[in-house]
Amino acid sequence: MFCQNCGASLNDGEKFCYKCGVKQAHADEFKETEKNDGEGKITLNKEQKKTIIETCVYTALLIGFIFLLYSILKYLM
Ligand SMILES: [Zn+2]
Repeated sequence: MFCQNCGASLNDGEKFCYKCGVKQAHADEFKETEKNDGEGKITLNKEQKKTIIETCVYTALLIGFIFLLYSILKYLM
């Protein structure tokens, strides 16, 4: 494991860092890992949302283009 403050290499289960003296909160370590995983998922979701929005925009443009073509055809006929 590594110090949460300075990143010094510590023995597993060490309560205090020998280098900077900061108390190592092991329970919080897992919570932070979960939080990081959550953020990663949120980032993925944002990318998915972006893709969905892009798909919607392209679909809207395609519908608009088809409507425009239909209008031109109607005008010509
Ligand atoms: Zn430290």
